[in-house]
Amino acid sequence: MESERTDFYLDGRWVSAEGRQPLEVHNPTTEQVIGTVPAGTAEDVAAAVAAARAAFEGWAATDPADRAAHLDRLHAVLTERADDIARTVATELGTPLKVAARVQAGLPLTVLRGFVDLAAHPPAPQTIGNSLVVREPVGVVGAITPWNYPLHQIVAKLAPALAAGCTLVLKPSELTPLTAYLLFDAIHEAGLPPGVVNLVTGTGPVVGEALAGHPEVDLVSFTGSTATGRRITHLAADRIARVSLELGGKSANVILDDADLVKAVKVGVGNALLNSGQTCTAWTRMLVHRARYDEALDLAAKATDGYRLGDPLDPATRLGPLVSAAQRDRVREHIARGLADGGRLIAGGPDAPVPQRGWFVAPTVIADVDPDSALAQEEVFGPVLAVIPVDDDDHAVRVANNSRYGLAGAVWSGDEERALRVARRLRTGAVDINGAPFNPLAPFGGYKQSGLGRELGVHGLEEFCEVKAIQR
Ligand code: NAD
Repeated sequence: MESERTDFYLDGRWVSAEGRQPLEVHNPTTEQVIGTVPAGTAEDVAAAVAAARAAFEGWAATDPADRAAHLDRLHAVLTERADDIARTVATELGTPLKVAARVQAGLPLTVLRGFVDLAAHPPAPQTIGNSLVVREPVGVVGAITPWNYPLHQIVAKLAPALAAGCTLVLKPSELTPLTAYLLFDAIHEAGLPPGVVNLVTGTGPVVGEALAGHPEVDLVSFTGSTATGRRITHLAADRIARVSLELGGKSANVILDDADLVKAVKVGVGNALLNSGQTCTAWTRMLVHRARYDEALDLAAKATDGYRLGDPLDPATRLGPLVSAAQRDRVREHIARGLADGGRLIAGGPDAPVPQRGWFVAPTVIADVDPDSALAQEEVFGPVLAVIPVDDDDHAVRVANNSRYGLAGAVWSGDEERALRVARRLRTGAVDINGAPFNPLAPFGGYKQSGLGRELGVHGLEEFCEVKAIQR
């Protein structure tokens, strides 16, 4: 076994979790147990929240430049350990090592760097008439994170929380907790003041609920499924605690008739398959103008050929397994249902070859998907792309917005003004035109059931602040 962790991080030190049940962590490629972490209890959460509460006043009063210096030190330690982080994510989640290095380890470092700068130079107070409007830290944050980007999802909460002057208790996903332990090893080495950040591992129903429902937690910052987000909102409602929610998605990739089709389909397929499709912003519905539909289907099928399945540690691998057997089974059911509902298999599917061992699903493209069917409406969280023909821009917008989600999306057109008009009509928190690069300083979050609030950049910082008006 590679990693047996037997403690929580409370009040600036590793505290033995003696007596707590071990939770097994698996390698989804080998299906072997690779580690254990302790299953925390409500008492462990209470101890962590008490430490965060005790540390709050001091940390909130710390000079912003000192808070920035602490985050900068953490950035330096994490940078040294980037290879270790990428390998751990590849091993406990299954992201191919090259992608793990670039996205799973690299992206959180970029995000953290941005918050070092924002911590040092926070937005200035505003003067409105006779009022001075200032931002103050919201208090103790309970952060609950998923497994699909195990370090990024934590850093996207921890960095702005600390920059704003909040203290924090983290409950990471029980499927990928080893990456969180690496982060807390780095936090310990970076020497953050005791109680400012605390770690309790365990299951959602026990540790997650205790944290979301704890009376001393001022903000519950959650990333995960819409169903869990709803439960967390209920738990926070009794005490009117703030919640910020980053939830599921079913994003549309709108390809208009004047698009660079080769690029649009290639990038679109790559986006849908990133991290084996376990990405909340994945463009899982490809909406193509009828005039280019058959051509797009050919290109999409060919694009999937390049995604070699295999061991994430093998440099030739382009697509790893899904995180768990349960996730693999759910994705298979979505594919079967999509085909039963009239979808036409273009690539992959239930009979496509996959490695014998490991929780793999072949990259799958299904065409002629009914926009009202389950495959077009439900988040699959696997390497499955639904392709839907559309008649014109209005029809594309109607189909794209026919979703309870509203997280991300894309528009491709040779005419940027036309693409911008369509982008403005999409009811989602983000839209990328013609494959524009990801901007880690742009606000990130969802409309509708994709969430509440925004992460990243200055908007992300504001989620961790209260606003105060001082009249004089
Ligand atoms: P999940 O909701 O099952 O779990 C997320 C976290 O919540 C885990 O730590 C889990 O232990 C905890 N949890 C589970 N039940 C809980 C409860 N009753 N009370 C408190 N905490 C509980 O989600 P997941 O399967 O880990 O992640 C996949 C989902 O996350 C997908 O729906 C995906 O779209 C979404 N996601 C969204 C974003 C975003 O930024 N919008 C990013 C990544 C993932």
